Amino acid sequence: MTDISLSCECGKTQGIARGISPDSGTRVVCYCDDCQAFARHLGREDSVLDPWGGTDIFQTAPAHIAITEGREYIRCLKLTPKGPYRWYAGCCNTPIANTGSASLPFAGMITAFMEIPADEERILGPVGWYLQGKYATKPLPPGRKIVGFPLSLLVQLFWNILVWKLKGLGKPTPFFDEDGTPVTEPELVQGRKEG
Ligand SMILES: [Zn+2]
Ligand SMILES: [Zn+2]
Repeated sequence: MTDISLSCECGKTQGIARGISPDSGTRVVCYCDDCQAFARHLGREDSVLDPWGGTDIFQTAPAHIAITEGREYIRCLKLTPKGPYRWYAGCCNTPIANTGSASLPFAGMITAFMEIPADEERILGPVGWYLQGKYATKPLPPGRKIVGFPLSLLVQLFWNILVWKLKGLGKPTPFFDEDGTPVTEPELVQGRKEG
C-alpha cells in the first residue's frame, strides 16, 4: 500500500491519499458528457481530459483521502439537482473528486489531482473500464472497447461500496461535515443539456 500526494495545479490545495493499492479502488476512464462538461466548466479540459475527452478516475473510499492544505478553497458544483457532487479546488479550478451524498462511502478521485507515481499500474491497477465511449470526442483507439456502464463494473462497485460501508470507510471524508452537510454549498451549474 502506498500514500499518494494530492495537489491542485497551483499547489494551494494539497492532501494525501493513504493506503492506496489496486485493491483499494477501481480505475476507470469516463467519456460521459457530464464529466466533460465538468472539466470544461472549470476551464481545465486541456489538463484533465485525455485526447478523446475522457476523465481518468480512481474510485475509492472517502476515508483514504485527506485534504491537508487549502480546505478553504474546496468548491462543489452539480450539473443536475440529483447528479453527483463534483468537487474541485477553487484556487485554480483543479477537479478533485465526484461523490454521492455523505451516506454513500464512495469517491471517484480525479487523477489530475493526484501526483501519479511512475509505477502507477502497480499502485492504482490498470484501467479496468473505458466508460460511456459513445460520448468520446473522436473514435477511441483500438483496445478501448466502447462500453456504456457495464454490469461487471456495477457489480464491483456495489461490492466495494458494501465492504467500505461495513468497514466504516465513508468517514472521515474531506467533503462532508460530521452531520452529512457538504463542507461548501454546491452550486447548481446549468449542464450541457436541458431536462
Ligand atoms: Zn462521467
Ligand atoms: Zn490550486
